[in-house]
Amino acid sequence: MRFNVITIFPDLILDYCTESILGRAQGLNVIDVQTVNLRDFSNDKHGSVDDTPYGGGAGMVMKPEPIYLALKQLSALSSQLNIESRKRTILLSPRGRQFDQQVAEEWSKLDEITFVCGRYEGVDQRVADHMVDEEISIGPYVLAGGELGALVIIEAISRLVPGVLGNEASLAEETFSPSVGVEYPQYTKPEDFYGWKVPEVLLSGHHQKIEDWRKGKAHE
Ligand code: SAM
Repeated sequence: MRFNVITIFPDLILDYCTESILGRAQGLNVIDVQTVNLRDFSNDKHGSVDDTPYGGGAGMVMKPEPIYLALKQLSALSSQLNIESRKRTILLSPRGRQFDQQVAEEWSKLDEITFVCGRYEGVDQRVADHMVDEEISIGPYVLAGGELGALVIIEAISRLVPGVLGNEASLAEETFSPSVGVEYPQYTKPEDFYGWKVPEVLLSGHHQKIEDWRKGKAHE
């Protein structure tokens, strides 16, 4: 699965994606994370990608042209994708539909997702209206840019792509998985840590009792 991230801070994305699970998954060629530096599509020598807002107001707004050209080069403009396409183009935005595990499951079956990361006061509305498939938020708060949102989504989806996790059985018993809802509490060694003890039932070796206890705790 391929992820393209259009951003003015490509290193933020690349640094995170070379470590841990995402780094391993890229090493195995199960996922591929590519960045596009939006400044490469600026039409001035300073590499500007923002300008003042029409109608006045605080801050700067990201211009439509560089984003259009970057998406065009990636063949990721929403108008270039047909309905059956297994590609999506997403604008990160606090105003968008909220990302959750169900969306992660749906999108893990796609071939390619392109993210447009906003900065400053946001992005010219024509990007949301004409160039992307959807605006997506990662939560009801305002961040300084879309890069963390893109990383959150890339990681949540990548864990679901076959071959990325060492032990895929762990996905079936996780919080938000359909059969579980919320995962039970987990313990590891030592059995007694400064008097905080592991529940007896988990040491009993009695599988049915352990399963019942876990179900009860998850429900709690
Ligand atoms: N002025 C905008 C508003 O009030 O809605 C906020 C712009 S924010 C400072 C800059 C960029 O960060 C946004 O264009 C978006 O790409 C990203 N961003 C901020 N919060 C986000 C969130 N909760 N989810 C996804 N992206 C977010």
